[in-house]
Amino acid sequence: MKKKGILLFSGGLDSLIAAQVLIEQGITVKAYNFLLPYEKPDYNPYSSAIAKSAHGLDMELNFVQCGDDYIKMLLDPPHGYGKNINPCIDCKILFLRKAKEIMINEDAAFIATGEVNGQRPMSQRKDMIIHIEKSAGLERMILRPLSARFFKPTLAEEAGIVNRDALLDINGRGRKIQMEMAKKYGFTDYATPAGGCLLTEPHYSARAKELFATNKSITSRDLYLLRLGRHFRIEGVKIVVARNADETNNLINLRNNNDTLFSTQFQGPSMLSPGNSKLSDSVKKTAAAIAARYGKPGKEDKEREVIVYERDGQETIIAGSIADEQINCFKL
Ligand code: SF4
Repeated sequence: MKKKGILLFSGGLDSLIAAQVLIEQGITVKAYNFLLPYEKPDYNPYSSAIAKSAHGLDMELNFVQCGDDYIKMLLDPPHGYGKNINPCIDCKILFLRKAKEIMINEDAAFIATGEVNGQRPMSQRKDMIIHIEKSAGLERMILRPLSARFFKPTLAEEAGIVNRDALLDINGRGRKIQMEMAKKYGFTDYATPAGGCLLTEPHYSARAKELFATNKSITSRDLYLLRLGRHFRIEGVKIVVARNADETNNLINLRNNNDTLFSTQFQGPSMLSPGNSKLSDSVKKTAAAIAARYGKPGKEDKEREVIVYERDGQETIIAGSIADEQINCFKL
């Protein structure tokens, strides 16, 4: 085995310190960040804040896009959800299983994480850390440079690949030691702990729960769409209403043949009904009225036109009016 480790890298301070501690030992560190499947299809992680945080560290940073395997787990996580729709325990197990494959392919000696013993009430409790390690099939192969002294020596330490004496013994929720180390190493650009995971956000989670309850064949595009616009469900049909020009462009670019796109001929929002290529007249009528509510239609028919693009053609309908109370019945 080479003097080489695979680091699960979040861009947060703990993962920066984990990297630095290993690099100082002369270990080759290959960092990996796993992207959750709700990113924009053309998202470029190499220009993200995570990539920026790794600048200056002598290591290679790679991004791995999670896809259908992650979504399958997200729909029914064996260990359940956290406060929102975050399946943290199963998410970590999945990341570690992927990292294990990478470790084998790279002929690396271990996997490292920035975990700190006792930092989080659930997923970073020692018994849970050990459970996650076992579930991923990585017993004694996960090195936690910040809290190594709280765990049995890993195989890499026993083999002399990693010097245990140079590892740390940070414990608990306090950040004092990490802040001192950040100062020492000159780390200024790093993400906040657990920051950025949409699955922990209440608003996103509420939309996701509603989607999971109504549709079992979810795609990464569906998860990205949850980030955009206003959402309505009319007679069981999802309608996403753009809030600005950017979202309008996104909806247009995301549209495929199985979707219905609504394009207002007055100053108003575009709308997308994902996965529905043939809508009933009453759904179209209500959707057009919602577009008029959020737009600025005129009084004449031609100033209230909405073009509905379906798989088999298009039609023009005239947007009527709808009361806010009625809109609220459809709003998600
Ligand atoms: S916060 Fe998000 S990315 Fe982090 S473990 Fe939980 S679900 Fe996974």
